[in-house]
Amino acid sequence: MVEWRVMSLEYDFHSHSTASDGTLTPAGLVMRARAAGVEILALTDHDTVAGVAQAREAAMKCGLMLIPGVEISVTWQGQTVHIVGLNMDPRNPVLLKGLDRLLEYRAWRAGEIARRLEKAGIPGALEGAGALASGELVGRTHFARFLVEKGHARDMREVFRKFLVRGKPGHVQGEWATLEEALGWIHGAGGLAVVAHPARYRMTRAKLRRLLGEFRELGGEGLEVVSGSHSKDDCFTMARHARDFGLAASAGSDYHGPENPWIELGRLPALPHGCDPLINYISKQYDGAVFSSSSR
Ligand code: AMP
Ligand code: MN
Ligand code: MN
Ligand code: MN
Repeated sequence: MVEWRVMSLEYDFHSHSTASDGTLTPAGLVMRARAAGVEILALTDHDTVAGVAQAREAAMKCGLMLIPGVEISVTWQGQTVHIVGLNMDPRNPVLLKGLDRLLEYRAWRAGEIARRLEKAGIPGALEGAGALASGELVGRTHFARFLVEKGHARDMREVFRKFLVRGKPGHVQGEWATLEEALGWIHGAGGLAVVAHPARYRMTRAKLRRLLGEFRELGGEGLEVVSGSHSKDDCFTMARHARDFGLAASAGSDYHGPENPWIELGRLPALPHGCDPLINYISKQYDGAVFSSSSR
């Protein structure tokens, strides 16, 4: 039996590869994470676990511990929220069937985004975005990169604002999983569920707390307190929400590739004081495993 007895580990529980909208292959991502000092990495591609096998193989070669993960798209009260699943069995049939449905919806949505962009005078978007995607899904990020390449916007921020958000030509209302379905799939596959980057939703405090209350009721375990997209203040606010709702605290960069140099692997701040680190619950899922983090 492998024993994981270490006093302190660098971990990162949120990252993307070319299996969804990241720009590094699963193996490339793992090697970059290892080089950056990450010892435990969760691969959490959008609505797919297709990259896990390759990431695992690379992780074994370079001595990194790979946690199979997924970032499930959910529609909750008319809004898209992301639920990260950590340490599930990536071959679980219930999980795979659920994710398949979301991938089918994504394929339809990609066509719909392209039709709408064409009406707005931008032809060829499906082919263009598809050519930038190497996995099984075409997401908004691929459309965004296509639109920037074609000179319709200067950068990713601008392209989303001009084309891909509510009220803009390429926007399609999400019809993702329900919160209950996402938690059912994650738990059915033996994983832990985490609300991803909570500060990104721009919800009122009251609405966010309704989400967290419902999430907790449904058996959700964690909240991403530290995220590459959180400010320092966001981290402290989310640490308080996590405590109030009895949620463990997770930390993840939400890395998508070296093109976004402001988010790097293995460069996350520590969890605020008083958090209940989610890594302790992951550690309990491994026989005889004891890993903790001194820095986080
Ligand atoms: P999708 O799941 O296909 O609707 O795409 C969501 C993804 O788009 C997120 O995971 C981010 O990677 C990316 N994204 C969303 N908003 C922005 C933004 N304002 N700037 C850059 N990337 C964004
Ligand atoms: Mn993404
Ligand atoms: Mn997300
Ligand atoms: Mn993400």
